[in-house]
Amino acid sequence: MTTPKHTIEDLISNLGQTLPQVSPEELSSGDELSNVVLFDLREPELMRAGALPGARAVGQRFIELELAQQAIARDAPIVLYCQAGRQSLLALRGLQDLGYSNARSLVGGFSAWSSRGLPVEQPVMLTDPERSRYARHLSLPRVGEPGQLLLKKARVAVVGTGGLGAPIAYYLAAAGVGTLRLIDHDVVDASNLQRQILFDTASVGAPKVEVARKRLSEFNPLVALEVRNEMLDTGNAARLLEGVDIVVDGSDNFETRYAVNQAVLAHRQTLVSASVFQFSGQVYSFAPHLGTPCYACLFPEAAPDSLAPSCSASGVVGALAGTVGMLQVMEVLNIILQIGSPLFGRMLTYNGLKAETRQLSFDVNPSCPACQPIRGGSTEVPAG
Ligand SMILES: [Zn+2]
Repeated sequence: MTTPKHTIEDLISNLGQTLPQVSPEELSSGDELSNVVLFDLREPELMRAGALPGARAVGQRFIELELAQQAIARDAPIVLYCQAGRQSLLALRGLQDLGYSNARSLVGGFSAWSSRGLPVEQPVMLTDPERSRYARHLSLPRVGEPGQLLLKKARVAVVGTGGLGAPIAYYLAAAGVGTLRLIDHDVVDASNLQRQILFDTASVGAPKVEVARKRLSEFNPLVALEVRNEMLDTGNAARLLEGVDIVVDGSDNFETRYAVNQAVLAHRQTLVSASVFQFSGQVYSFAPHLGTPCYACLFPEAAPDSLAPSCSASGVVGALAGTVGMLQVMEVLNIILQIGSPLFGRMLTYNGLKAETRQLSFDVNPSCPACQPIRGGSTEVPAG
């Protein structure tokens, strides 16, 4: 008995007859387009000619992983398209195997759509200087061009430009995070220079955010910088943090951290926080709008000053602040790129004297005064 030989054309033709498809006319009628989750499977080169409005670029990543990472429901109305409607049929077969029951492929792909004169959107693309600058990201699996575009679109606020915030801002700018907002009310002091690497001897006495803006704009002119020369408190935190996707807290006191947490809860943002003390530090991430604990779930009340002395009182190793700041940057990048396992509901501690890390898990606190009024009784952590 010989195995019948089918060509890829036979397979695609067969899939075209059996799998659910949608024509450009159907997809463009009424508000159908806005009611579906639309995925563009084409290579970035082809996307330069435009894309369907609202499409999400998948690039070289697997659509199956993409759907799981974006927590798309199995019965969500999904439409896949490629350039000519063939690759999307092959991808659709994989989705059907995984139980996505309401997924369709666009007949004729982008070519058929655009040849009918239907609306096309110019997607955000990388410029040539960005391609050169971020080349090591573009060649990196799980980042690549789609990931770099996510970084370009991201808006991140850094609270404090001190021991944590200075190296954090530097590396976020280096990574190509599109918009960085720096918040600090302080001026540079000579004692900052041991760890706050944005500043130098000539900066002493100048406002930190102004020095940071000048330094970072010279370092990476492709990043948009917003600076706020204000002291963040409960009264202005919501305003200072409005409009960003992720907040990185590099502050050194509980009062500021609680004010940041409140604003993050109100704006449904993701928070990456940390603290350092002498030779050790701890890092944690919070996405309470996705069902994970908030900062106040972990620290229901401020530790007394005797247990949480400031760096000015007890000292800190500059490289330790840099190390912990870099752990925060990795968290931010994983969250923006939707890769890895961020520290949601987990605390990572780092001991610089012993080169030791430890982890501790924590849950939503059902009596947390900060997040419970907003959660409305739901502490469920969504799957995926
Ligand atoms: Zn909470």
